[in-house]
Amino acid sequence: MDMLINGKYVSDMDVSEVINPYTNEVIDTVPVAHLNKVDDVIDAANNAKSSLQEMSAFKISNKLFAVCDKLKENKDDFAELLSREVGKPINEAYVELDRSVETLKLAAEEAKRIYGESVPLDAGLNGKGFLAFTQKVPLGVVVAITPFNYPLNLTIHKIAPAIACKNTVIIKPPSDAPLTVMKFAELLNEEFPDGVVNTITGYGSEIGDALVASNNVDKISFTGSVTTGLLIAQRAGMKKITLELGGNDPLIVLDDADVDSAVKGVINGAYLNAGQVCMGVKRIIVQEGIYDEFKTKLVSETRKIKKGNPLDKNTELGTLISQKAAIQVEETVNNAVKAGAEILTGGKRDGAFYEATVIDKVTADMDLVVNETFGPVAPLIKVKTVEEAIKIANMTEYGLQAGVFTKNYYHALKCVNEIEAGSVFVNKQSTFRTDNMPFGGFKNSGCGKEGIKYAVDEMTKTKLIGLNLR
Ligand code: NAD
Repeated sequence: MDMLINGKYVSDMDVSEVINPYTNEVIDTVPVAHLNKVDDVIDAANNAKSSLQEMSAFKISNKLFAVCDKLKENKDDFAELLSREVGKPINEAYVELDRSVETLKLAAEEAKRIYGESVPLDAGLNGKGFLAFTQKVPLGVVVAITPFNYPLNLTIHKIAPAIACKNTVIIKPPSDAPLTVMKFAELLNEEFPDGVVNTITGYGSEIGDALVASNNVDKISFTGSVTTGLLIAQRAGMKKITLELGGNDPLIVLDDADVDSAVKGVINGAYLNAGQVCMGVKRIIVQEGIYDEFKTKLVSETRKIKKGNPLDKNTELGTLISQKAAIQVEETVNNAVKAGAEILTGGKRDGAFYEATVIDKVTADMDLVVNETFGPVAPLIKVKTVEEAIKIANMTEYGLQAGVFTKNYYHALKCVNEIEAGSVFVNKQSTFRTDNMPFGGFKNSGCGKEGIKYAVDEMTKTKLIGLNLR
């Protein structure tokens, strides 16, 4: 599939293969762009700014709704491609498609709500006699850089609000799973003028680096790992950045919890998308009174998970994004075992598959839970008190989301108040997001928020207009 630059399909001399991690077959190739294409794509996005900024909010909204309808019509094709390039179970691919449609709809609605406010300058010294108000004006060119795990919806979370508030966009899709995003860019391009939506592909960091360092783009909206996010923060200079980075989300289960609900929370939170979810349940902190019952039920439910061909509707666990990624998970788990942890079920790798795995006797200092383990693992940490649970929950550089299961009002509020994370859910696992909520982590999990309305705030600048009436 070729890149889309200024409404034209563009190739380059080198290509990289997009591999189906389940079959190891090459699905397609995409260009490895040379650096001169970075200039081309930046020029295209800058030249298209006036065509979008002259368009009424009414028209932009209608066009976004039209793209939404097209995505719905082509849902089956998109879901299949997504499943094949990510190794994601087809049912989960359909969920991502439904959410993508919803995210687009929210952006189409938001396009009509880009309000400023009136400002009483006479409340300040010497401000009498003015009529003053603010406008939210577009930044210009927004660069969207996204990861492989939810490529479509995470890209739409950037480009749909960007267009809703009249920014042109350059998409740098994930290297391992670029196809669904590139196919979606084609739908947008059918509705909007040439250059409003552009894609550029490459392998490794070269293209991303060049986009981030450019003085001719106005905003970097990045979702991905902390390591890359920190590099971007150093290189971006004065331009605005939003960083949606990794997570190491805790799920706390207290003695007074509904055990079955908490177990369900782990099943839905730790193994979803083969554990490759930023807000996935990555550390399970369980109070000692309920520990054995919880552990037994979790192991039993984990063993029921059906691993298989991602395109089969009965499959619940697909592959990881690559064999390399699965080997990394395997090594991390094996190191934890060497340090004293015990695998209760799972623990085996087969190519890019890694089994759903429950790990007992995990301590808070093991690499398995200190770093973000991006695989279908459920590490259990036993604690005595709610205070100890909160302390361990916060013992991490990350702070994306968190969940606590308890029926005790005091314990729930204590967790809500003291856990350092962008969202804290009570009686729900962290692996939960609606596409309109403010989403974004504390600490090294990032800066800025997404969730359409919140993304629009970060993709506009506020201009004050003052009319001297005296
Ligand atoms: P990654 O950081 O390796 O890559 C993300 C994107 O950045 C890719 O498109 C990649 O090509 C590009 N990139 C790589 N080096 C770059 C550079 N120097 N400059 C600019 N761009 C560069 O992440 P990944 O492995 O694709 O995704 C997994 C990570 O993403 C996990 O840490 C996960 O938690 C995180 N994530 C976060 C969220 C969130 O919303 N907070 C959502 C999903 C995934």
